[in-house]
Amino acid sequence: MAHNGGLEIPIESVKGVGGKRGAVLKEAGIHTLADLFFYLPRRYLDRSQILPIARVPSGQELTLVGQVRQMRFVPGARPRFTLVVEDDSDDITCVWFQGGRYMQRNFTEGDVLALSGKVEVFQGRPQMVHPEYEFIEASGAPTLLHTGGIIPLYTASADMKERGLRSRGFRLIMHRALNEFKDRICDEMPAEMMERLVLPGLRESFELVHFPRTMEDVRLARRRLAFDELFELQLRLARLRRKRLAEADGIAFSRAEQLVRGVCEKLPFELTRAQEQAIGEIVADMESPFPMARLLQGDVGSGKTLVALCALLVAVENQYQSVLMAPTEILAEQHFLNIKSLVEPLGVAVILLVGKQRAAARKEVLQALESGTAQIVIGTHALFQEEVNFFRLGLAVVDEQHRFGVVQRSELYRKGSKIDILMMTATPIPRTLTLTLYGDQDVSVIDELPPGRKSARTVLRSPDRRELIFEFAANQVREGRQIYVVYPLVEESEKMDLKSASEGYEELRHGLLAEFSTGLLHGRMATEEKAEVMDAFKSGEIQVLCSTTVIEVGVDVPNATLMIVEHAERFGLAQLHQLRGRVGRGSEQSYCILVNYAQSGDSGALQRLNTLCTSQDGFEIAQKDLEIRGPGEVFGTRQAGIPEFVVADLIGDADLLEVARKEAARVVGQEDEGTAQGV
Ligand code: ADP
Ligand code: MG
Repeated sequence: MAHNGGLEIPIESVKGVGGKRGAVLKEAGIHTLADLFFYLPRRYLDRSQILPIARVPSGQELTLVGQVRQMRFVPGARPRFTLVVEDDSDDITCVWFQGGRYMQRNFTEGDVLALSGKVEVFQGRPQMVHPEYEFIEASGAPTLLHTGGIIPLYTASADMKERGLRSRGFRLIMHRALNEFKDRICDEMPAEMMERLVLPGLRESFELVHFPRTMEDVRLARRRLAFDELFELQLRLARLRRKRLAEADGIAFSRAEQLVRGVCEKLPFELTRAQEQAIGEIVADMESPFPMARLLQGDVGSGKTLVALCALLVAVENQYQSVLMAPTEILAEQHFLNIKSLVEPLGVAVILLVGKQRAAARKEVLQALESGTAQIVIGTHALFQEEVNFFRLGLAVVDEQHRFGVVQRSELYRKGSKIDILMMTATPIPRTLTLTLYGDQDVSVIDELPPGRKSARTVLRSPDRRELIFEFAANQVREGRQIYVVYPLVEESEKMDLKSASEGYEELRHGLLAEFSTGLLHGRMATEEKAEVMDAFKSGEIQVLCSTTVIEVGVDVPNATLMIVEHAERFGLAQLHQLRGRVGRGSEQSYCILVNYAQSGDSGALQRLNTLCTSQDGFEIAQKDLEIRGPGEVFGTRQAGIPEFVVADLIGDADLLEVARKEAARVVGQEDEGTAQGV
């Protein structure tokens, strides 16, 4: 949490917070004053309008001020306490059905009250049920906490409520704490910066966010507090980046073009401009003496593998080993076969390391790595294992990097010293998240697909059209094409996932697609089994592949032109976009049919899935996905290392993030100047 200097004061220091209340607050994570001040209102009620009683409209939140004229406790089946309050214009009745007997003791005739709530008409007279109320001193300007302004509402646990810490009690404590300790709030932001960025001071921000006069106050205060969080992170990232660039003890590879040229000459196509540019950026990093940390982003099918291969080859030509790590065995094997066929003719030794290799084969692989006879190794998580030692590792490429945890990635880096690292992702990351997650890194983007690609025509269908859908599928297969039928992976239960794919498989091969050869692929199959199925699909022997999302990444069969996704409503948008990337890899027109089983009333699912029908742009889709599901859901918060902000919101505060980033760069630049002058 940003800027809590000076506020590490135990919560019990606030008057009115005794042992019991203190304990309840601590349970809610509020240990110190900093915690308390950062316990922001859940929402606000606008009670800033004070109206004469005669003019109050019914049905709206409002505040009025009047004098108690009459009070009455009415016992009976439905006991209630009523209070008649009048002003110059009229009177109004307030009713409490709860705590009536006790309420009576609260008031005296003649008290001046501010009352907030909704006015309704009862038997022709205006009435307020359970209004918020506050006594107004007859003399002097009143300080209203609960009425007559913008009133904050706080989230209260059952325990908190029991201890009088509903919104009302909370506001009292907050008020006291702010009054008593406001001089202890230490604002680290220089006045010059506040002025330039039009941000209020920290103390003022706490006051504004907890006791605003207008909603504009709230907006300003939140902006400052959110800025602090974003700025702190950006500053940390900017310093990390500077530190990395200052470390001139990484590997400075020499110019090496022979192998790269050798591969490119054999390709049946030209590299795209975007691929060329990415390769240029990567190679420049590799040739410089600091350790590379670069993220390569590119939509599905944009040709990241070739870019990675060029980097691997630069390392090899420099007598270093290089590694390409993939998140699944299928993908690792596929990379292995592709890359091997391209580079073995040039005399480069490529090997594969995956978890399920037999002991003997595995031993051979480990020896080749340790002795240096293997130059490029492609593998899965198996590469992390302790017995894996490299002769001389120079570069690690991590494909679909978001699938690996931060810890796993760093384990790989430790296999070499100050190696260059290239991370790749086909889940385009919206810029806000890139800045947050990878602010210390450099980013290359492949923003163009190879020419001649026809994007998959995408449609949304309901299950009652299944027969038509599979008739269409059958026609595709008759024309010589292949198809995928994808079933959802249900996270709660591996079993359910398995069942739905295998059930679908059984159903199709005995039913609608009985005349074709069908195959089944899912994550629980043994590696060899999976490889067999994939090979059969690649060779065309299998025409219809029923699968779970294991085919999500990287699988490349250009003859596949149709993908049917069952229960599309269960997938995230980014994931569906990934899946769809499996078709449209050849020159034929391809199709993606999303079968939506959501209730017809579920317009959310419809809206989400329609995004895919209208957009082929991975970045646009990722942004939508992020807006709909939030960063945690999309990227798996903890695994991806997405920081959890108290105030800042990576979607709503995108502009502020840019500001914070610029400021952080400026501050770090000044720090550099400072050091230079000091020397
Ligand atoms: P991704 O970025 O999704 O990992 P791949 O690297 O798997 O994409 O490339 C997808 C397909 O496009 C592969 O079959 C690859 O051979 C092909 N490809 C890559 N670059 C080009 C290019 N410049 N022109 C034509 N096809 C290309
Ligand atoms: Mg790929």
